[in-house]
Amino acid sequence: MKIKTFEEYQIAYKQSVDDPEGFWAEVAQQFQWRTPWKKVLSWDFNEANVKWFEGGVMNITENALDRHLADKGDQPAIIWEPNDPEDKSVSLTYRVLFDQVCRFANVLKKHGVKKGDRVCIYLPMVPELTVAVLACARIGAIHSVVFGGFSAKSIADRINDAACTMVITSDGAFRGNKVIPMKATVDEALVQCDSVKNVIVMTRTRTPVSMLKGRDLWWEEEVKLVDSVCAAEPMDAEDMLFILYTSGSTGKPKGVVHTCGGYMVYATYTFANVFQYEPGEVHFCTADIGWITGHSYIVYGPLCYGATSLVFEGVPTYPDASRFWKIIEKHKVNILYTAPTAIRSLMSSGLDYVNGHDFSSLTKLGSVGEPINEEAWHWYKTNIGGDHCPLVDTWWQTETGGIMISPLAGITPEKPTFATLPLPGVQPVLVDENGLKIEGNGVSGNLCIKFPWPGIVRTTYGDHERAKQTYFSTYKGMYFTGDGCLRDEDGYYRITGRVDDVLNVSGHRIGTAEVENAINMHLGVVESAVVGYPHDIKGQGIYAYVISDKEIDDAEMFRKDIGATVSRIIGPIAKPDKVQFVTGLPKTRSGKIMRRILRKISEGDVSNLGDTSTLLDPTVVEEIKKGAL
Ligand code: AMP
Repeated sequence: MKIKTFEEYQIAYKQSVDDPEGFWAEVAQQFQWRTPWKKVLSWDFNEANVKWFEGGVMNITENALDRHLADKGDQPAIIWEPNDPEDKSVSLTYRVLFDQVCRFANVLKKHGVKKGDRVCIYLPMVPELTVAVLACARIGAIHSVVFGGFSAKSIADRINDAACTMVITSDGAFRGNKVIPMKATVDEALVQCDSVKNVIVMTRTRTPVSMLKGRDLWWEEEVKLVDSVCAAEPMDAEDMLFILYTSGSTGKPKGVVHTCGGYMVYATYTFANVFQYEPGEVHFCTADIGWITGHSYIVYGPLCYGATSLVFEGVPTYPDASRFWKIIEKHKVNILYTAPTAIRSLMSSGLDYVNGHDFSSLTKLGSVGEPINEEAWHWYKTNIGGDHCPLVDTWWQTETGGIMISPLAGITPEKPTFATLPLPGVQPVLVDENGLKIEGNGVSGNLCIKFPWPGIVRTTYGDHERAKQTYFSTYKGMYFTGDGCLRDEDGYYRITGRVDDVLNVSGHRIGTAEVENAINMHLGVVESAVVGYPHDIKGQGIYAYVISDKEIDDAEMFRKDIGATVSRIIGPIAKPDKVQFVTGLPKTRSGKIMRRILRKISEGDVSNLGDTSTLLDPTVVEEIKKGAL
C-alpha cells in the first residue's frame, strides 16, 4: 500500500489514471473483507451516483480493531492527553479499545439502536468519543458527530435532519480554563427533537445535570451492565458509515454522507502514504473529531493502519503557548498534523515558548484546513521541524473523505505554500467560469475533479438532489470543489481559497448565508450581508454589514447583542469579528448584493471598486466606504 520513492509515486499515479479499477482493487485487497466486492466502480456524475466495491461485505471496525489484535494487541491505539497537563494521560491499547468499543456497542444495542439508525455524538475530545464512533460503526448505526462548539439550535437542526434516535454526550467539557456545559446544551436542543429516545451521558466535569427518567442514562453505569463480546454487523461497502454536517454557500448545513468501504480504503491509503507512517510512530493530529480531519486522521485512517493516534482534549494555548511542544516532548510525537491558524497563533506568541523543547522525536509535519501562508510555512518547517522534517500541506474537504492534493512526506519535492501534486486516483482539472478546461501550466482557475476516487461524498443526507446541485451541476460531468487554484510552471497545485460564499475562519468552514440568517433573527436587524476579510491569525475574519430599523444609540452594545445572537443560533465560531451599521447595501437592479464591493471595502482596498454603474443606488457605496471599520 505504501509508495516509497518519487518514481513509485509517478508509476502509481499513472496506473491509477490508466486503470483506476485495477489500481483501487489492489489497494482494497489489503483490507479484511467478509465477501469480496462484485464491482469495483460504477459512476455517473450527472446523477451524483458513485459506488465503490459494491457487494463487498465488511465492517470497518474489524479493520480498525480486530485484525490488529494478534500482533498489535498491546500497542497503544489511542494516547489521550487531557486538557489539564497535571492530570494523567491515558493509553488505550488495541485490545482495551476493542473491549471498550464492543462493550459500548452492546449498550447501544440494548437500548434499541439498530443498523441504519442515526446516532448524534456531542462529546469533548475524550477517549469515549472514539469509542462511541467505533461502537456505532460496529453495529452499523450511522454516526453524526457534532462539534462541541455548536449551539443547541445547531445540534437540534442536525438531529432533526437525520432523525437521530440517540444522543451521546457528557455532563460538561474542559476547554483551557473554561468548563463548558454539554448536557445542558443537549437538553435545550432536545426540546425541539421528537426522534430522540435516549441520551447517554458520560461523566467528565461533574457539572450538575438534570437526568430525565426513562430517557437519560449514565455511560459508566450502562457499560457495567453488558459484556464485551459484540460481533461486528456485516455491512455492504456502500452502506452509510457516517453523516457529517458542513456549510455551503446556501441554506442550512448539509449532511455529507460517507459509506463504509470506499471511505475506509481512501482514508487509510492516504494516511499511510501522505504521512509515510512507520510502525510504532505516534501520530498527533490536533483537529477535533467533530470535523472530517478528526474522523479520517485521528480515528479511521490511523486505526485501520494499526497506528498510534494521539487525542488531545485541550487547546494549544493552555496553560500557555508551549502546550503542543510539551505534548510532543512528553509523548515523543513523531508526526504533527495541525492547522495554519494554530501555527500563526503560536508563532505570534514568540519563540520563547518554543525554544528549549525537545523535538528530536518529530519525523514529519502536516498542515490542513486552509491555505498556509509563506511565513507560517517557513516558521513551522524551521522552528518545529528543524528544517529536516518533511512538511506536507494537505488539501482536501469534508466531501472528499481524505487528502486529495499533497506531497508524500519526504518523497515529493516540497514548495512552500503549495499542496503540490494530486495523490494517486485524483484527477484535478482547472476550469474557467464557462466551464472550459484550462490546459497547460502557469494557469489558474476553479478546481474540479473529473474522476471519482473511493472517498468521494455519496449524497447529502435526505436530499440527493442537493448533492447533485451542489457538487455536480456547476460544471457538467465534474465534481466542483468550490476552491480556486493555480497550477504553476512545474504543474504544482496551490489552493488559493474558496470562490463561493463560504468562509474559512480558523480552518472552520462557515457559510455567509448561515451567518446572515442568524444576524437577521436579531431584533432591530432588517438585513445583513456577510463577507470574509484577511485576518492575521484566523486566516479569514467575519465582516458583517447590518441595516437596522431602529435608532442606534449604543453601537457597541448592539454589536455585542448581534454577536450573542449568532453564538446562540450557530455557535461562537461564527460570531462576526466586525459589524458595520449601514443604511443600505450595494444591490443590483435585480436585488442581488454585490459582494465583490463589500469584500473590497472589508479588505481596506477601496481604490478600485470596479464597475458600480449597475447598482440600484451607487451612493450607498460612498457611505459604506466612509464607515468602514
Ligand atoms: P472542510 O470541508 O471543513 O474540511 O473545509 C474544506 C475547505 O478548506 C476546502 O474547500 C479549502 O477551501 C480549505 N482547505 C482545506 N485544506 C486546505 C489546504 N491545505 N490549503 C488550502 N485550503 C485548504
